Amino acid sequence: MTQYLFAPPAIVAAPIRGRRELFPIRRIFCVGRNYEAHAREMGVAVDRQAPFYFTKAAADYVPSGMTLAYPPGTANYHYEMELVAAIGRGGFRIGAAEALAHVFGYACGLDMTRRDLQLQAREKQRPWDLGKDFEESAVLSEIVPAADIGHPARGKIELKVNGTIKQSSDLDLLIHPVAALVAHLSRYYHLQPGDLIYTGTPEGVGPVLSGDRIEGMIEGVGTISVVIAAPE
Ligand code: MN
Repeated sequence: MTQYLFAPPAIVAAPIRGRRELFPIRRIFCVGRNYEAHAREMGVAVDRQAPFYFTKAAADYVPSGMTLAYPPGTANYHYEMELVAAIGRGGFRIGAAEALAHVFGYACGLDMTRRDLQLQAREKQRPWDLGKDFEESAVLSEIVPAADIGHPARGKIELKVNGTIKQSSDLDLLIHPVAALVAHLSRYYHLQPGDLIYTGTPEGVGPVLSGDRIEGMIEGVGTISVVIAAPE
């Protein structure tokens, strides 16, 4: 029997609406600047030719409904409300026409961001890891099977902080929709069941403070909420 020096990392898995099985999370890919108005508010031009990505560790996952610790090292902690596609069938060099058949389902996601660290990195042309890939930075709702809701191509995506609407857009404004993302990403990675794709946030990103309540919704998909705890 194999013995380990210490306990290996636990399997990270998300609930699936209407199922007893959990969805084991393998990798988390995130798309940058996938809504034109968000790229504009970030002061950068969109690239319509090709999407770009950053990643988060699966261990960054935290389920909707939790209280998040205010993260260390930042004074500008931001929400980003996003549609998340959950890959159920792996593939490599997937054609756009077949891409949605690889998507098991969809969820609401919050790509929590240490904006000050991300922007410092961007300015110095360094990677975004400190700004994007940190503990509890990948909030996810339950996953809803595409078998039940189809593949949402339009519908409201909205986020409120303490009851005030901060982000309000529509999935039909995604520059690179889910099928295009699956096709493009699978040219660079052998996609595997359990991979998640955070598809990017619309305009209206902003900071949250200790005690704030974040509530998001995507029409036809579901809802997500977290509370920000007091700093350590
Ligand atoms: Mn994002």
